[in-house]
Amino acid sequence: MIIANWKMNGTSQSVTDWINSVSGNIDIDNLNPCIFCPPTCYLDHARKLINKNDHRIELGSQIVNYSFEGESLTGGISATMLADLGIKYVMVGHSEQRDILKESNSVITKKIEKALDDDLSVIYCIGEDIDIKNKKETQLFLSHQLDVLGKLSSIYEVKLGSIKVAYEPIWAIGSGLNAEKDYIEEIHEFIKKYINNHLGWSKLDIYPPVLYGGSVNLENSKEIISLTDVDGLLIGGASLNPETFCKIYNLS
Ligand code: PEP
Repeated sequence: MIIANWKMNGTSQSVTDWINSVSGNIDIDNLNPCIFCPPTCYLDHARKLINKNDHRIELGSQIVNYSFEGESLTGGISATMLADLGIKYVMVGHSEQRDILKESNSVITKKIEKALDDDLSVIYCIGEDIDIKNKKETQLFLSHQLDVLGKLSSIYEVKLGSIKVAYEPIWAIGSGLNAEKDYIEEIHEFIKKYINNHLGWSKLDIYPPVLYGGSVNLENSKEIISLTDVDGLLIGGASLNPETFCKIYNLS
């Protein structure tokens, strides 16, 4: 699974160009979906273009909102709206939203539940900052973030299979400093063990894929994707250029 996260970049023309270029230059393998997450305002345009040309790129939203008891929320985008647009994936818990929008774990839990209500696949993002890494507290920190998944109401048990985890060390996002391969292997192994054993998902026979994100580029992508326990890539900056993205996808 290779995800292009455009963040707050692009125009309707660059979205068109990207979809046409990527569709023409990658051979999408069903076992390795290609998921495009443009800004929300371009999702409908992207959906129509993909449908019209029978492209096999999947779409993901960078955001989803929820409101308690139908309270109004100016500017909000609900999971139901995303599903209505034919969007299949939604990212929840990205560090930029945790940090800049002050999203708490309890808000994140609600967002995941709302997304699952509408049968969206959730890409749950987790990751530590540099202080936590330096204090060697990464595993403890990530375990608190993973506990969000353990707090989902039991009615969602049947839908847990549509959750994916993206490990994105904050210090690696957009910095040009990807995590070292030994570190990625250690942390991915920890995440899988925690979900299997501590959250008990192995008893449900659910083994979510764990993706890596953080300064993935053409030079490092092949090595990272080939690491044990790395099941995909979440790519920000390097996904904006369609040629680069195609090369990364084709190497994966
Ligand atoms: C991201 O936006 O989630 C990300 C990983 O960005 P970059 O690839 O630019 O580090």
